[in-house]
Amino acid sequence: MPICLLPISLANQIAAGEVIERPSSVVKELVENSLDAGAQQLTIDIEKGGRRRIRIRDNGAGVSKEELPLALARHATSKIACLDDLEAIQSLGFRGEALASISSVSRLTLTSKPAAQEQAWRAWVEGRDMQAELAPASHPDGTTVDVEDLFFNTPARRKFLRTDKTEFNHIDETIKRIALSRFDVRLSLNHNQKNVRNYPAVTDDQAIERVAKVVGAAFTDHAVALDVEQMGLRLWGWIAPQHACRHQADGQYFYVNGRMMRDRMLNHAIRQAYGDTLGDDRVPTYVLYLQLAATDVDVNVHPAKHEVRFQRAREVHDFVLQSARQALRSRASESDETHTG
Ligand code: ADP
Ligand code: MG
Repeated sequence: MPICLLPISLANQIAAGEVIERPSSVVKELVENSLDAGAQQLTIDIEKGGRRRIRIRDNGAGVSKEELPLALARHATSKIACLDDLEAIQSLGFRGEALASISSVSRLTLTSKPAAQEQAWRAWVEGRDMQAELAPASHPDGTTVDVEDLFFNTPARRKFLRTDKTEFNHIDETIKRIALSRFDVRLSLNHNQKNVRNYPAVTDDQAIERVAKVVGAAFTDHAVALDVEQMGLRLWGWIAPQHACRHQADGQYFYVNGRMMRDRMLNHAIRQAYGDTLGDDRVPTYVLYLQLAATDVDVNVHPAKHEVRFQRAREVHDFVLQSARQALRSRASESDETHTG
């Protein structure tokens, strides 16, 4: 075959293959966009586990009519402009690919109204060139992204979808992760027109209420609170003492600069903090937040941004290990005292 440039729609579908694995990946990308736009309220409507519809409404900054086609184009982003920005990411997104990818494997419409614009506009793309179409719409300040019929044109992906219930559970988990990353944002999740979750905005002082709602009171009743700062690193949050740890790894939330991570090095550090107190039947259970200079972490490692790379990996590992260990030991000695005294 001769070498030729792929049609834009196909190039976007290939990019979608990396990031959009299932409905919950769409939810993650769209919710992150809303948060990057400064939204304080998000409503997430799901139909049929997300295969029929995923619709996210926010009250963020919106996209102007002129910029709507760009928002849907690949490699177009308002979040970084140069290499220096990439080296010190402040936003959740930066790849400029999500909307282009999702719209290449679904029927996506983007409706938006910035506060300064009189009229709302709706945009969608069509054809091999993914040419943007525009029409006036009615919408309050903010943005709605409506994703219908996910994977309708990519049967291979569609085949891998599980039952609506399973797909919805993945979405529920995605929203839980987000709920623990931004206490100040109100989230409401509906499935097939029924409200399933409601997380009202809380202040930092009430954060534990949201943690209880997301992870369960059995966790917050026993967890040790910690907040340690050292050499430009800060670790805060809650960690369950060994007897309150879960049997399954469904209570492990670790955030690096506000982004939920599944990082082997961090998992290892926390596991080690428990020493051999943890039996074979229990796994570490925690909600922890690590904060460090944006220039000390590289988030551009994995397209879905699940992984990061640390400049000072050894230091970070030891800091997390020591801080978690100390918190667990302080609790252990407290309960020793109450048992003996
Ligand atoms: P990225 O998030 O990496 O920039 P996306 O494809 O997810 O790429 O989004 C492209 C652009 O569209 C964003 O940079 C942003 O300017 C705009 N955008 C997307 N979603 C929203 C939203 N909910 N509110 C405001 N602007 C948005
Ligand atoms: Mg994005």
